[in-house]
Amino acid sequence: MALTQTQYQTIAREYEVIRDNNRELSEVRRFEVLSNVPEYSELEKNIGTLSVKCTSLLLDGREKDAENVREEIARIRSKKETLLMDAGYPSDYLEPIYSCDVCKDTGYVRDESGALKKCHCLKLKETTLLYEQSNIHEVLDRENFSYLSFDYFEGESLAYYRKAVEISRRFVRDFAIKDKKDYKNILFYGTVGTGKSFLSNCIANEIIKAGYSVLYFSAFALFQKAASLAFDNKRKSELDEFYGDVFECDLLVIDDLGTELTNSFVSSELFAYLNERALRGKSTVISTNLFPDELRDRYSDRIFSRLMSNYEICKLVGDDIRFAKKYKNA
Ligand SMILES: [Zn+2]
Repeated sequence: MALTQTQYQTIAREYEVIRDNNRELSEVRRFEVLSNVPEYSELEKNIGTLSVKCTSLLLDGREKDAENVREEIARIRSKKETLLMDAGYPSDYLEPIYSCDVCKDTGYVRDESGALKKCHCLKLKETTLLYEQSNIHEVLDRENFSYLSFDYFEGESLAYYRKAVEISRRFVRDFAIKDKKDYKNILFYGTVGTGKSFLSNCIANEIIKAGYSVLYFSAFALFQKAASLAFDNKRKSELDEFYGDVFECDLLVIDDLGTELTNSFVSSELFAYLNERALRGKSTVISTNLFPDELRDRYSDRIFSRLMSNYEICKLVGDDIRFAKKYKNA
């Protein structure tokens, strides 16, 4: 993903704000504990004094005595923890607070070889900024496997749904270990409101959390973005960047294929995306309300055959669960 300098600065500022807010929250918590549990600050002072003592003992070469002091410090630490919990706080209440525990809100982590790489939270910020995927956070909070339910299905539709869930879970599990040549794709198709987008989102969620780059588009937004760049001569380099991201991201999710205004531009774009990603061994997840024969009618034969041969096809049918949920909650 190629961001401009200004966009990087925007993201860097976001991290600063996150760190400031968390620091502030930490201080508020500390203040709260110190005023509610006076013994706590006594113990902290003791630890301070003992730490100094420990250092000076070490400087004198009195390792054994220093060790005793260290043990004393450890005892006081655990006493602090007990005090905290006795006062009704969780034991980690005064630990540093991070919005992302993986990178501690820095945006970067070290891999096995010690090299710095982007954290998943940074990658998500990049795609959010680049492709205005502002709804994705909300979607990812609400639509993940922890909200999975089979309650809204029965009979045949339940069987289809179970199968689709199984394929989705396997897709996520195998994503990290997959060899480039056996990368997987999924096509969810079926009637409206049967969980296709939900499962796509669950998958996107897991893959983002695992640190991969994920681009998530409704078909409408995807082709609109492509058209706005392709038909503007001045945006040639932006178009190249866009293709680079669409072809190269670890996972591309196209939601609601068929809701866009399909024309020859859309058709040839779609084929290019599927083709380029296949060449690169990159996974794609597509959801659509169109049934296979409608897909064949709507798009070209080559798109149809690519989908049918390279994608795991998950059929989903049944009543619109969005209505069922509403009814149930009413
Ligand atoms: Zn992070």
